[in-house]
Amino acid sequence: MTVTKIALVGIGKIARDQHVPALAASDAFELAATVSRSGGLEGVENYGTIEALLEARPDISAISFCTPPQVRYDGARAALAAGRHVMLEKPPGASLSEVHALQAQAAAANLSLYATWHSRHAASVPAARAWLADKTIKSVRIDWKEDVRVWHPGQQWIWQAGGLGIFDPVINALSILTEILPVPVYVTGADLRFPSNCETPISGRIQMGGPDGPLVESDVDFLFEGEPLWRHVVETDAGTLTLNEGGAVLDIDGTTPATNGAEEAKLHGEYDGLYAAFANLLATGSSEVDLRPMTLVADIFTLGRRLEAPEFIDPTLQEN
Ligand code: NAP
Repeated sequence: MTVTKIALVGIGKIARDQHVPALAASDAFELAATVSRSGGLEGVENYGTIEALLEARPDISAISFCTPPQVRYDGARAALAAGRHVMLEKPPGASLSEVHALQAQAAAANLSLYATWHSRHAASVPAARAWLADKTIKSVRIDWKEDVRVWHPGQQWIWQAGGLGIFDPVINALSILTEILPVPVYVTGADLRFPSNCETPISGRIQMGGPDGPLVESDVDFLFEGEPLWRHVVETDAGTLTLNEGGAVLDIDGTTPATNGAEEAKLHGEYDGLYAAFANLLATGSSEVDLRPMTLVADIFTLGRRLEAPEFIDPTLQEN
């Protein structure tokens, strides 16, 4: 098998928790360098800027970006301009228009661009999609509730414009929704609560329509204490499908079905799946950029009524 040298840009929480272990386990990639403002990883060559890496290491043909969305575009554009294939963490950028620009740039240069949605690689998502494929969807309920102080301590970019606030995790729910439903959905309304000191929302309610009228109701909250609730409940003409734990656990009318692909997916985590998919795109000379989850979020911000919420103080930042 061809081993592709790859660099990781932005060595924060998700790079350390998921990308580094997935790359260590991958036969298709070798982590050859990092770009990090804070030193990177022990034992891995590090560059302070993407430009320095691109200049010094023409042998690294793929770059994977784990930076916050607001600073993703310039680096990705530079990487493509230097003839490198690019993989993007979710959301693929700060705006739809900048991702469209990257798509056009990659296509013109015959390079692979992969906009990842890690939650689509959760263990039970393929089985949920397969089961729903021939059903009539009557309603969908999404609850996406977690404690930002536990899951994103100190991440100030989430509260700055382009960081999406609660929609940083909720876009994962929408990536699953658009993957498993056999029908398209569109946003019809939203109430978004913005803390008085933040540029992005902390909680909200969202409504979406489907082919026959109202279809999806969603309640999302970034101040939810205790065990997180990452759940889709889909009512169909043939029973109720529940996906729990962010797509990991499937239940149909109270029983766990024998699911195709779930055992395989449990053995290999979501990020093993992402890097296997990227290797496949490189091998076939293709790109994958599905912007439906990000389009829904953009529409939620366009249609959402802005409501005030109390100031949000990140306890991690208060301690420092
Ligand atoms: P993070 O912990 O804040 O890490 C982001 C890293 O990007 C920083 O540590 C920093 O690394 C680098 N960076 C470069 N410019 C930056 C800037 N202006 N502000 C802040 N950091 C900057 O964030 P993360 O949780 O890893 O999230 C990064 C991306 O992954 C986001 O798009 C997020 O949605 C996605 N993601 C996160 C999770 C999760 O559970 N945390 C899960 C899946 C996906 P250096 O110091 O090395 O330069």
